[in-house]
Amino acid sequence: MSAINYKSTRQEGHYVTAAEAILTGIAPDGGLYVPTRFPQMEKTLEELAALDYRQLAVYLLSLYLTDFTEAEIKEAVARAYDAKFTTPQVARLETKNETHFLELFHGPTLAFKDMALALLPYLLKLAAQKTGQKKEIVILTATSGDTGKAALEGFADVEGTKIIVFFPEHGVSRVQKRQMVTQKGKNTYVIGIEGNFDDAQNGVKAIFTDPVMRQKLDNKGYMFSSANSINIGRLLPQVVYYVWAYLELLRRGEIVAGQKLNFCVPTGNFGNILAAYYAQQMGLPVGKLICASNKNKVLYDFFTTQIYDRKREFFVTISPSMDILISSNLERLLYHASQNNAAQVRAWMEELKNKGSYEIPAEMAAALKIFAAGFATEAETKAAIREVFETSGYLIDTHTAVAYSVLQKYQKQTGDKTPAVVVATASPYKFSKDVLCALEEKFVHVDDFALFSEMEKISQIKIPAPIRDLEKRPVLHQKVCRPEEMPQVVSEILGL
Ligand SMILES: *Cc1c(COP(=O)(O)O)cnc(C)c1O
Repeated sequence: MSAINYKSTRQEGHYVTAAEAILTGIAPDGGLYVPTRFPQMEKTLEELAALDYRQLAVYLLSLYLTDFTEAEIKEAVARAYDAKFTTPQVARLETKNETHFLELFHGPTLAFKDMALALLPYLLKLAAQKTGQKKEIVILTATSGDTGKAALEGFADVEGTKIIVFFPEHGVSRVQKRQMVTQKGKNTYVIGIEGNFDDAQNGVKAIFTDPVMRQKLDNKGYMFSSANSINIGRLLPQVVYYVWAYLELLRRGEIVAGQKLNFCVPTGNFGNILAAYYAQQMGLPVGKLICASNKNKVLYDFFTTQIYDRKREFFVTISPSMDILISSNLERLLYHASQNNAAQVRAWMEELKNKGSYEIPAEMAAALKIFAAGFATEAETKAAIREVFETSGYLIDTHTAVAYSVLQKYQKQTGDKTPAVVVATASPYKFSKDVLCALEEKFVHVDDFALFSEMEKISQIKIPAPIRDLEKRPVLHQKVCRPEEMPQVVSEILGL
């Protein structure tokens, strides 16, 4: 097996190992690390179908992390996907209304981010060992709600690390906020931002790439890394569940080997759906990757007009983890789809930063043909929750509902009969208020936490352990700051 190296999306000529890419998170030129080629799955689908989730994870990750030993990956996977996942196969597939729902929310924070963030701390520690890095790792993360908590859970009390999380003070659900501000762990710091997710993300990116900050950090024996989906170590574990979903349908006799499968993914930062693209590039038979947006439909506009334009109104929606106007991981897709044209990607990213928009050439649209795109309004999202519940008794969360709604519209418009998987990214409990209000208006005045027991009655699914006593836990983090104060806050925490 030949080695896979990683390089920046914005520059030619500089190659790093997987360990270096994971450890540093973002390339020094501000670009994202991408593999220099896509490894191919050499086992047949039938052979792969004999593997369980963890074995499959070891197999697929070994193809990318060629500087890690199989034993190292195996141990990391075993520690990541242990009993904190409450379903034996880590993920679950539920079929309702001729739609397959890939449930990725059985981890400690009830959202799909756990799939990658349970593993990332172990990959990071291995990466530090391999590169001889002795500095303390500071994880700096901007979150639209779910990443923050999943990263906090993953890194809490992990020796040799500190984790600092910024979240939009008014842009996350009450449950999400409560999950974060009650986080335990001596090395955890949680700060609200008086701004939206993009402000938080831009602030983090600026701190990351500020040479003065880097120098100060270095002098103090710290180094930054990222738990955001800009880190390739976040992306690669996500490839696994797309292959697993395919194999699971194969095992159940729902599809035959080689048959194509569509995936509809509720999308924000474009990390989850990009992992599906990676799986397809590795040989998974995929028909369409349907990118589902909420009212912040910047990606829908991009796929339909070839123009990415962030200059628009920002909406806070009932699917807040998708309330994003700058989808960072799209940069990786641009790189791959432009046949590795780093100079061009760099120019687009400059335009996005300075002008707020860029346009890709018509001929590139062909390379993006595997993608379809749609969006759901708030009313459509609620209607989807109602429809699925009334017809099948299955309760889906608001993000999953966006994808379900988009898939319905896509199938109606195109007549595409390819079997389809909706990626279910969060437990309905995580967004209990909006989910129940979609069913019945009367819940609008009920306290978010009181709704847990209402939901238990309605859904017949027990309140998940990680949120069972959430409202009783003490608040341990109270700091709020303006976006421009972020560097100062980080300096204070680290004593720079
Ligand atoms: C993060 C998140 C998304 C969006 O995923 P991206 O990888 O950012 O596109 C969708 N749904 C939920 C519940 C999330 O937490």
